[in-house]
Amino acid sequence: MTRSFHPPVRTLMGPGPSDVNPRILEALSRPTIGHLDPAFIGLMDDIKRLLQLAFRTGNALTLPVSAPGSAGMECCFVNLVSPGDTVIVAQNGVFGGRMKENVERCGAVAVMVHDEWGAAVDPQKVEDAMRSHPAAKVLAFVHAETSTGARSDAATLCALARRHGLLTIVDTVTGLGGIDVNVDGWGADAVYSGTQKCLSCVPGLSPVTFSNRAQEVIQNRAHKVQSWFLDMGLVMAYWGGSNQRAYHHTAPINMLYGLHEALVILEEEGLENAWARHARHHAALAAGLGALGIEFVVDEGHRLPQLNCVRIPAGVDDALVRRRLLDEYGLEIGAGLGPLAGKVWRIGLMGFAANRRNVLFCLGALEALLNRPGGVAAARAFYASSR
Ligand SMILES: *Cc1c(COP(=O)(O)O)cnc(C)c1O
Repeated sequence: MTRSFHPPVRTLMGPGPSDVNPRILEALSRPTIGHLDPAFIGLMDDIKRLLQLAFRTGNALTLPVSAPGSAGMECCFVNLVSPGDTVIVAQNGVFGGRMKENVERCGAVAVMVHDEWGAAVDPQKVEDAMRSHPAAKVLAFVHAETSTGARSDAATLCALARRHGLLTIVDTVTGLGGIDVNVDGWGADAVYSGTQKCLSCVPGLSPVTFSNRAQEVIQNRAHKVQSWFLDMGLVMAYWGGSNQRAYHHTAPINMLYGLHEALVILEEEGLENAWARHARHHAALAAGLGALGIEFVVDEGHRLPQLNCVRIPAGVDDALVRRRLLDEYGLEIGAGLGPLAGKVWRIGLMGFAANRRNVLFCLGALEALLNRPGGVAAARAFYASSR
């Protein structure tokens, strides 16, 4: 007989999923009700309002796509991009490459603007591309690049796009809940996130929001959206206002209980407090890593507090250390991707996982496995001095 699955106890300090808040796990186990039950419709309304708070937007078209962050990405592209369009895609890591794939699968042309992995997107290069491709309709970029730990200046990039008459698609899967995401302040048009990073919920949902400008583009499309499931025109009939909800698909009911709880937790803490908590524990971790002689990939001004991408010290066996962290400490950190594979570790401090216990635990484990002293002491000194 096959037995029930019981996962091992882990501390998740990689690029996602991050440690799930126990309150959210409890919410997931509440009884399932029908997805057109009036009580469930009340929950959907709550989620929309709480997502507007988290995204800092008044956009009516704000909802969680019933699939992970990658589906939120695809949703933004298939709705805004039509065959024959030109899209400027800024790439400074893995996820810009996926944006290019999405553009091309929409039958559009991607004009790529490359920056080094670990650098922020350079607004000057983006503006040059807009000048040489005046027919471009959309600028797409990643706000928080999880593959490198770099944060790009979304406000500047969105302002640039508006000045040149382009819509924006912004990936903030790793940003939401960890750093400022200001959809209306930026003037962004289509923004997507995920539940498994700084919201500390389980993977499998993708909050998205569309501006009125983006909605107009969607309503005036000459071609049907190529994806039936992700067609916002259809999804809106289900998630849209008032009491006239039409069946589109069965919402992942219990996961939405989880997302609701995650957003309630964020509202209780307050956005500013959540960002400050991420910044504080990042600074403590950075102090400890510095004492261990471990260097960051990203310049100080562009670092994501929730994703610490650091160089593996010379002579250290990447796979062996990560395996020992998992086997001996139950601690998961992330490996490098693409050109950074084997060269970096990605240490996440996302949402519920951004706390002192995790910082000290991770530093203690690295200190022991690398046989280098001083990491924990440096972090503790930081905490003592920054109370
Ligand atoms: C994790 C991530 C995604 C994809 O989210 P999934 O939930 O894994 O599908 C997209 N973009 C960025 C920047 C991410 O970090």
